[in-house]
Amino acid sequence: QPTLSHNELHAWDRDHFFHPSTHMAQHARGETPNRIIAGGEGVYITDVDGKRSLDAFAGLYCVNVGYGRTKISDAIARQASQLPYYHAYVGHASEPSIRLAKMVIDRAPAHMSRVFFGLSGSDANETNIKLVWYVNNVLGRPEKKKIISRWRGYHGSGVMTGSLTGLAAFHNLFDLPRAPVLHTESPYFYRREDRSLTEEQFSQFCADKLEEMILAEGPETIAAFIGEPVLGTGGIVPPPAGYWPKIQAILDKYDIILIADEVVTAFGRLGSMFGSDHYGMKPDLITIAKGLTSAYAPLSGVIVSEKLWRILEQGSDTFGPIGHGWTYSSHPLCTAAGVANLEVVDELDLVNNARDVGAYFRRSLADAVGGHRIVGDVRGEGLLASVEFVRDRDDRIFFDAADKVGPRISTALLGQGVIGRAMPQGDILGFAPPLCLTREEADIVVAATVKAVDEVA
Ligand code: PLP
Repeated sequence: QPTLSHNELHAWDRDHFFHPSTHMAQHARGETPNRIIAGGEGVYITDVDGKRSLDAFAGLYCVNVGYGRTKISDAIARQASQLPYYHAYVGHASEPSIRLAKMVIDRAPAHMSRVFFGLSGSDANETNIKLVWYVNNVLGRPEKKKIISRWRGYHGSGVMTGSLTGLAAFHNLFDLPRAPVLHTESPYFYRREDRSLTEEQFSQFCADKLEEMILAEGPETIAAFIGEPVLGTGGIVPPPAGYWPKIQAILDKYDIILIADEVVTAFGRLGSMFGSDHYGMKPDLITIAKGLTSAYAPLSGVIVSEKLWRILEQGSDTFGPIGHGWTYSSHPLCTAAGVANLEVVDELDLVNNARDVGAYFRRSLADAVGGHRIVGDVRGEGLLASVEFVRDRDDRIFFDAADKVGPRISTALLGQGVIGRAMPQGDILGFAPPLCLTREEADIVVAATVKAVDEVA
């Protein structure tokens, strides 16, 4: 129970707490939703006023095992009293970090061999880019440094990772460096310009665009391509049929490293342990975060292929220890949380649950709202889904951001006791519930969505 009064909580929050991704002036004036969350159990959270909501976005698609798993909180508490911290520089380690590294590699695609731990998806992607540049310096290819990302991709909000992110709000007014980042076509089938294209043809179109960009820039200047297996924050958009094999073939042709940003997708979200295996991607670097600890403690990682690891070893032999690391790399409290979390994922068979209940949920959602006058598309994979709203479904006339249809529907949904996320684009409602969701809970989410859409339409 909170020890501050309702008024203190709200006043101190408004006056002193600088929130991420928030309209600062509206918040200071008390005009944002400003919900203060006090507890969670299973797929439900409860706020300080006692209102309970089914969290169908698992926080920020991260509380994969659901709330209230004492196995994880106990593991953190035990580790805190035994050894709260020791660093991992110059080869030091603690047992949970070693155990977690082994557990991650056991679950990762077969050709991956090492994992570097950070704290957030953003810092893990910063690590990725430094490794890519380092590797090409070790290989004597100082020109091969440009990174290709995709419009609507989301890779974080740091200086470099914000540049990789292909969403304008994360660039505007921040003077993020444009070079050496390039953005290519988004694999967004529903919004393709040429509506006559099939999924396979659109995938080919995206691959052709990528190859054109590589040739125009010079393949000897392109180091890496970064992409999420399923576009997340950019709209929850699964790739069109054949997309990743076609992209992979182009990358192989020009010796370009694939970085699979699996911050959202790793550890079961798509109904497979990794999205890379799900779609036949062959990355040399994989970014992990959210599902690694189900957000019980902040932890991210970069998984490195054996092939890249050999080059990193060669780099150390030639140039000495790598100048990269964070004080909190592989923090023992966080890796202890990671070990317990991955055990829970296995014990409850959550990857298969995400596949089975995910298929049921997405089918029910499509049946319930897919034919609605303002619904243009219902899509997803595993327990990741979205509904895209349109002014006119036949002529595909889109809403303007000013219509705020996504926020209005997510507010109406909250009124029904369910949390979905209005995705930044403004006309998409996203779902990414905990992977322990049951069919009965899926029914609750679908029924609430029907009511919310009817209320706003
Ligand atoms: N990459 C992807 C695909 C993400 O979805 C996110 C966050 O949502 C990030 C990177 C950045 O992670 P963080 O917010 O932990 O820095």
